[in-house]
Amino acid sequence: MLNFEFSSQQKMLRDLAHTFAENEIKPVAEFYDQHEEFPWPVVEKALENGLLSVNIPEEYDGPGMNLLEECILNEELAWGCSGIQTSLMLNSLASLPIIISGSEEQKQKYLTQIAGGTMAAYCVTEPGAGSDVAGLKTYAERQGDVYILNGVKTWITNGPVSDIFVVFAKTDRKARYEGISAFIVERDWGVKTGKSLPKMGQHASKTCEVFFENVEVPVENRLGPEGNGFLTAMKVFDSSRPAVAAAAVGVARRAFEEATEYAKTRMAYGKPIIALQGISFMLADMAMNIEAGRMLAHKAAWLLDQGQSNTMLAAYAKAFCADMAMKVTTDAVQVFGGYGYSQEYPVEKLMRDAKIFQIYEGTSQVQRHIIARELAR
Ligand SMILES: Cc1cc2nc3c(=O)[nH]c(=O)nc-3n(C[C@H](O)[C@H](O)[C@H](O)COP(=O)(O)OP(=O)(O)OC[C@H]3O[C@@H](n4cnc5c(N)ncnc54)[C@H](O)[C@@H]3O)c2cc1C
Repeated sequence: MLNFEFSSQQKMLRDLAHTFAENEIKPVAEFYDQHEEFPWPVVEKALENGLLSVNIPEEYDGPGMNLLEECILNEELAWGCSGIQTSLMLNSLASLPIIISGSEEQKQKYLTQIAGGTMAAYCVTEPGAGSDVAGLKTYAERQGDVYILNGVKTWITNGPVSDIFVVFAKTDRKARYEGISAFIVERDWGVKTGKSLPKMGQHASKTCEVFFENVEVPVENRLGPEGNGFLTAMKVFDSSRPAVAAAAVGVARRAFEEATEYAKTRMAYGKPIIALQGISFMLADMAMNIEAGRMLAHKAAWLLDQGQSNTMLAAYAKAFCADMAMKVTTDAVQVFGGYGYSQEYPVEKLMRDAKIFQIYEGTSQVQRHIIARELAR
């Protein structure tokens, strides 16, 4: 039977997440946007409230949320500030390869640490390889019981604050996709991180380069068999894209709410501007597209939770919600007129924050490439 209503547990989660966003995130969003610091106090409170590392199963001390629950959570947290939400979400992203391809020993050792608050980062992108994952150059050379890891990763979210790095590297330089393996690497083994990279939005989330120079990684820290890394990364995307799409919905919803309130109170020609069709139609489009985006994200998550293939739906959701959030936030700035361009009002930040959703976790073009590839099968 088809049912669009949240269960009582899902409603409780949404309310808890919204209260957390309202009380702990929204009041400090502007501070972190302006000061570009990592939001440690919020991370600590999220941990206390069971809102960090949320996808880690209960047997490894995590909250054990399924993907639909993660979507419900992400929408609310991103409504408060998507930079802070991204900082909170990274432990879940970095845990996914371990959940998907890790051995029981690896899960016991590392998922429990991440669930306890150790920060973790997910390292695929390199200066010369982003969308083209098979083009990565970081190399892990096997020498007896260890791999010697050399290479540079870039744009690594939470890189500056992480102690655990899940790293994708070539174990066979001649191969493309089938030459990639994934490893769990501890900072203490000689990982170096660069300064935070300045960026357009999501200032509460810190990204940096990560350097591996002759870092010795024990063989037992390889995730799955050699050459399994690309498959692991693709499975990660099936889980991460609906969650990221839901966060984009949260940003769009916040911009829509701000714009609607403003349109009800801003007067022009003796009446509130919401009475102008040019404004009210923009708001109507926002409302429709936010609802459509949420449905896509939730369906993509639900499919995965049911054990069904969701690659196509995850790509629909990621592309639609990212593009939708960009359009909605841009239109919200328009509704505010000149004040929308000012840092005095939140919509300018929301527009800057929205842009990244079209880039990370696979660009909007890459999502269309995936959809087109599936159509051509
Ligand atoms: C703030 C931020 C945080 C990030 N966090 C992380 C992280 O934690 N871990 C991590 O590993 N990476 C992270 N990334 C990297 C991100 O995933 C990449 O930037 C993204 O995948 C795009 O890769 P690229 O930047 O190399 O662009 P490129 O791949 O060089 O793309 C350039 C342009 O070409 C287009 N293009 C590429 N391939 C195709 C195609 N097949 N069809 C059509 N167009 C195409 C792209 O859409 C884009 O418009 C982050 C990036 C940013 C900016």
